[in-house]
Amino acid sequence: MRNSNEIVIVGDGFAAAIMLIHLLRKGVPATSITLVGLGVIGQGNAYSCASQSYRLNVREDLLITFSDDPLHFARWAQNHIQDPEAKTTAGYFYRRHDFGRYVSELVSHELGSRQLHHIAARVTKILRRGDDWSLRLGTHDEFIAKQLIIATGNAPPIWPCNVNLKLGSPAWIHTHLVENPWTGEYLQEIDSHEDIILLGGGLTALDAINALVEQGHRGMINVITPRKIFPPVQAPWQRKQEPKWPKQLSPRGLIRFIREYLPSADATSSEWQCAWEELRVNLNMIWQQFSSSQRFILLKRVGWIWSLYRFRAAPQTIASYEQLRKKNQIQFILGRAKQIICAEPKITVLLGNGGESVGERIINCTGVGADLLLNNLISSQLAMPDAIQQSIAIDTNFRVLDSNQQAWENLWLIGPATMGSLGDVVAASAISKQAEQLAEQMKI
Ligand SMILES: Cc1cc2nc3c(=O)[nH]c(=O)nc-3n(C[C@H](O)[C@H](O)[C@H](O)COP(=O)(O)OP(=O)(O)OC[C@H]3O[C@@H](n4cnc5c(N)ncnc54)[C@H](O)[C@@H]3O)c2cc1C
Repeated sequence: MRNSNEIVIVGDGFAAAIMLIHLLRKGVPATSITLVGLGVIGQGNAYSCASQSYRLNVREDLLITFSDDPLHFARWAQNHIQDPEAKTTAGYFYRRHDFGRYVSELVSHELGSRQLHHIAARVTKILRRGDDWSLRLGTHDEFIAKQLIIATGNAPPIWPCNVNLKLGSPAWIHTHLVENPWTGEYLQEIDSHEDIILLGGGLTALDAINALVEQGHRGMINVITPRKIFPPVQAPWQRKQEPKWPKQLSPRGLIRFIREYLPSADATSSEWQCAWEELRVNLNMIWQQFSSSQRFILLKRVGWIWSLYRFRAAPQTIASYEQLRKKNQIQFILGRAKQIICAEPKITVLLGNGGESVGERIINCTGVGADLLLNNLISSQLAMPDAIQQSIAIDTNFRVLDSNQQAWENLWLIGPATMGSLGDVVAASAISKQAEQLAEQMKI
């Protein structure tokens, strides 16, 4: 290793932490690794949350950080987490905050007394300099990386429509229009009688619901979403058998096979979820066999169903929703937001279908935003868009493809942004597997 920027990881969240651990285990000196990011190493967008009400959406034995020791987290949790409410009939669903603590502890343990180069900055641009990469930071500093791993995670949510700020002090706007609710800091500002608008009906909305119920909210909760349905609750499930996949599947054939394989039981039942999880095992391989246009079509047709059932919710969270529903304290408003109008003390959301919703605070639960750094790599032709036009394309060895579809030998991408190229890679366990595989194949 010639200098301290031999291997640079952009991002300092979960994927970066697990990558770091595997590199260290492989014998790479800590002085050869640099992490760039503004957070606490390992916690990222999902596990740095201030709210204690945000729970992991999978049970403890499925959070696999090391493939050779799948129950590592489950054991750690038993010894280090005091959370009597974690236990449910579907397993233990711990707080995300506690999982963040676990990852931070893994990193400290692996580093021991060694110091790590962690630059507290955002990378705003990546440029090619000879055979190396040059990273421009938000601080306007620039430095060189010989080998570069991008692990920037899910880009934080941004408003999905125009926001018209008619009237309101900056402080009111700042606290009543919550563009990124992932950390949950906004929750402590909420008065229990406020009417709240949740824009979006996925897991982020369910996180907000659980937190509001836990803090005794009494006002109305209006959920604006195109469909009157939340992700289902996690049931106790186990994989029992392997589906006998037909050879040479087309996207249509895939949908047909999945339909036939799933039982007619409810999606919240163990029976249905066992079958669904049996199907998931091979889906990435099948996804990778499809052409770009086939992947695009598939995502357009069934992407929303896929996201709905793949991201199931912790039982505690669904119990909170049921509590609100029984008290008629929550309602769905069907449609898509066209404009948000703010005139203190009210916020009005105009919908594309002519409807509207009025409340005193709005929480943006619409999901992942755009990663400007990845977009920038595409516009400078150092990368090409992936099949679903949501990220940059990579090959099966995580190597980023340039605009001529050639793989760079020293630029990789891991984490949820690899989904368009590799398939279902969002959960922590899928990401740790990627980090493990990449560390294995890197020439160091
Ligand atoms: C709110 C939320 C809850 C989730 N809950 C679960 C769950 O319960 N179970 C589960 O399995 N999965 C969950 N996930 C899925 C999640 O994708 C993974 O678990 C995992 O956290 C992703 O790790 P990552 O390192 O790719 O992203 P992150 O851990 O988010 O790390 C990316 C880091 O890179 C930083 N960054 C981004 N751009 C730059 C830049 N240009 N320069 C420098 N730094 C940058 C970000 O600030 C962030 O800290 C959740 C995701 C979210 C968003």
